[in-house]
Amino acid sequence: MKIQEVIDELKSYDGKPVKIMEVCGTHTSSIFKNGIRSMISPKIKLISGPGCPVCVTSSAYIDRLTEFSLKEDHCVLTFGDMMKVKGSSMSLTEAKAAGGKVKILYSPLMALTEAREHKNIQYLFAAVGFETTAPIYALMMEEMKQKNITNLKLLTSVKTIVPALSYICEREKNIDAFLSPGHVSVITGADSYRELAEKYRKPFVIAGFEGEHILAAVYEIMRQLKTGRYEVKNMYATAVKEKGNEKARALLSEYFEQGDDFWRGIGIIENSALRPKKEYEIFDGGSRIEGMNEEMPKGCKCTDVILGRRNPAECPLFKTVCTPLHAIGPCMVSSEGACGIWYQNS
Ligand code: SF4
Repeated sequence: MKIQEVIDELKSYDGKPVKIMEVCGTHTSSIFKNGIRSMISPKIKLISGPGCPVCVTSSAYIDRLTEFSLKEDHCVLTFGDMMKVKGSSMSLTEAKAAGGKVKILYSPLMALTEAREHKNIQYLFAAVGFETTAPIYALMMEEMKQKNITNLKLLTSVKTIVPALSYICEREKNIDAFLSPGHVSVITGADSYRELAEKYRKPFVIAGFEGEHILAAVYEIMRQLKTGRYEVKNMYATAVKEKGNEKARALLSEYFEQGDDFWRGIGIIENSALRPKKEYEIFDGGSRIEGMNEEMPKGCKCTDVILGRRNPAECPLFKTVCTPLHAIGPCMVSSEGACGIWYQNS
């Protein structure tokens, strides 16, 4: 089928309104960049989901980083996206301005070099992410073990997406289908969504990131909905295998174990964390969820945005009080956050 025929069919859809959640921020960006909404019927609503790890990181986690950075001969290593996320009193940017030592890294492996070159400094690496980045954190621990690096620890906030989707399916009954995340699926595999598709009777379609990939996935979802089907369909087969990346998953099982995790704006989701196993707790800089219980900033609708109840433009603070330069909630801070993406593109 030609792409124009796909567009014509999606554009002319006039059935009951359909809500499709795109789980990851890269899909949200691509939907804007490729003008996907203008190519489909307004009755097909694309909504964002919880796929930005920075947005769901709790303020108590940020507090642990800022407190560490302010100690003598201590330094926090982090990705740039984390710098502006507010803790209960300050962000890492503010901690740095107050004399804290914070260094931005472009690759987690740079943390090893940093620790080897400055043995007199204690480092804490902000290991935030989903299954996609977790194998690199496992490799870090492997190298730390082999090279006996003792002045570096990981403060992990590594989340797994399937328990979060299960949480959403259980509570947000009006979401009709899911555009499954491409990058995470490379690790977890298409099989990881089968139980959800069966249990909640919803299509889960894995898509690549080009405009035509997304259109084809939306078309597949609509085809399934029209015929009353609810299947997992892998439309990103060049990168995603049925069982995922088995080598990476074996590495994860060696270094991490599952646990409950706190998602900012949502609360605790069972079995949604990957934490260093007991035998590797020597590398763990305090990755626990005790004390993580917080309200979102007043007026901020990040919870609704993350759970697909409203899009960012439906938040009264969007673009008025809340902007990337003056972010009220975490979804505006990160380049992968739905509010930030909507701000840049709408
Ligand atoms: Fe929160 Fe700002 Fe997004 Fe509104 S626009 S939901 S205040 S981050």
